[in-house]
Amino acid sequence: MSAERTLSIIKPDAVAKNVIGQIVARFESAGLKVIAARMMQLSRADAERFYAVHSARPFFKDLVDFMISGPVFVQVLEGEGAILKNRDLMGATDPKKAEKGTIRADFADSIDANAVHGSDAPETAAVEIGFFFPGINVHSR
Ligand code: UDP
Repeated sequence: MSAERTLSIIKPDAVAKNVIGQIVARFESAGLKVIAARMMQLSRADAERFYAVHSARPFFKDLVDFMISGPVFVQVLEGEGAILKNRDLMGATDPKKAEKGTIRADFADSIDANAVHGSDAPETAAVEIGFFFPGINVHSR
């Protein structure tokens, strides 16, 4: 099986809790490699564009406000089955429903402030990686 790539964002709540390293350690322990990473402050336009698929949802404005409330740590993860593996490590969107031992169960406070984002399919992974890391191929290892 060939290695797959996915986009991970450690959201402002988890960055503020100073648990970037603990979250990245979970990716690494599961066999995922960080092949690109950047800490950044999203602009409102960035966040609206990134979450455009949710623009008609009632939570859209709160989601954008939250995503620009502080810096985020964005990474490309690579490994076998990286997309599903990352989703499993993250746990359910609502941390109250997330399985014990998942990132959201352990580090998130609410469905709004839920610690991490992860691509949900190969097509979205490709778009999301291109959004944050144009020219990613040079960093593969
Ligand atoms: N979200 C929210 N309220 C909801 C549903 C979603 O605030 O009722 C936010 C939440 O931060 C979630 C993001 O919108 O992570 C994207 O939603 P999605 O359904 O794609 O969940 P995910 O793929 O992040 O688990």
